[in-house]
Amino acid sequence: MLIGIPKEIKNHEYRVGMTPSSVREATAHGHDVIIETNAGAGIGCSNDDYIAAGAKIIDTAAEIFAKAEMIVKVKEPQKVEYEQLREGQLLFTYLHLAPDPDQTTGLITSGVTAIAYETVTDKNGGLPLLAPMSEVAGRMAPQVGAAALQKANGGRGMLLGGVPGVAPAKVVVIGGGVVGTNAARIAAGMGADVIILDKNVKRLTWIDDAFGPRVKTQYATIDDTEALVYDADMVVGAVLIPGAAAPKLIHKNQLSRMKPGSVLVDVAIDQGGCFETSKATTHADPTYIVDDVVHYCVANMPGAVARTSTFALNNATLPFTLALADKGWKKACQDDPHLAAGLNIHKGRVTYEAVASALGYDH
Ligand code: NAD
Repeated sequence: MLIGIPKEIKNHEYRVGMTPSSVREATAHGHDVIIETNAGAGIGCSNDDYIAAGAKIIDTAAEIFAKAEMIVKVKEPQKVEYEQLREGQLLFTYLHLAPDPDQTTGLITSGVTAIAYETVTDKNGGLPLLAPMSEVAGRMAPQVGAAALQKANGGRGMLLGGVPGVAPAKVVVIGGGVVGTNAARIAAGMGADVIILDKNVKRLTWIDDAFGPRVKTQYATIDDTEALVYDADMVVGAVLIPGAAAPKLIHKNQLSRMKPGSVLVDVAIDQGGCFETSKATTHADPTYIVDDVVHYCVANMPGAVARTSTFALNNATLPFTLALADKGWKKACQDDPHLAAGLNIHKGRVTYEAVASALGYDH
């Protein structure tokens, strides 16, 4: 199969669909790979790295869209991209169609077959192509929160790990899923005093077994959440109710009871945020202050560490990319119902129920 990798064009998107190592795996399977010139520059991979892996460098995205049988990307196609897709072509990337009627119409009109990373499943009911980005965002949360705690950034002027004779910061993580446990791991590693709240007792038991006394756990009642938040130096919002907007767990009238200069890192902002005062920010201007509490609410945190994120994403996507290229999408989806769960658009129809019902299409 001829696999094409265009350079990402969304604002401040530096990731790339395939790493040189993934390209080498694909060529070892007998496939041809074409990649737009400098597509890997944002992750520190040069044209020469891709040539060494067996790819051919192409000057324009237009040529890639015209020739490739399968397009592998990271972000959802932008207008200029979906206008170049066509029937008989396969698109494998993040799509997030439900809130995006324009892109959905564009993909329907193109006739392309589109498999979305975010709806591919695994046998445990997880979303294996979303999990790596949650790991990245979770591990970044204490890092960005620690910077926000510095005085010059509006924080209380506190070092996360303290020093001998001075207590460390208190970090409260609300939600003990992929983001939450990764955030707790890094915060504890930086020497903070860490507690995770969740409503799932089994999850709390797992966390207790995994971390031992380094990370405390607490069932997330309103009472306990409130008491811990008022005493915290940093709160990480990491809750998810699948398919729903994030529940609001800290309200504006509670901010005045928090410590001045404390920090809220709302990782759940991509689902609307779990603090009432959260509004999405960008890497260029990531924080703002409400009632003396610093808010960090960047909706695409993994974009800041494009290199790590691309490699992590490729570790998860590569087996699926190879299956699609080796077998063609139809056979690959017949053989693997979890990959089939990723099919969102085929021949002018929305084939994913939640997207169809969100946007009013027949399914
Ligand atoms: P997850 O499903 O692994 O974990 C969510 C956890 O929240 C679960 O353990 C659940 O029991 C818990 N929870 C639900 N409601 C709760 C409540 N009221 N109180 C306490 N705990 C509650 O999800 P995840 O992969 O960790 O993702 C968390 C959020 O982070 C999602 O909204 C995800 O989209 C988002 N995310 C954001 C970025 C970013 O760049 N901002 C990147 C990756 C993921």
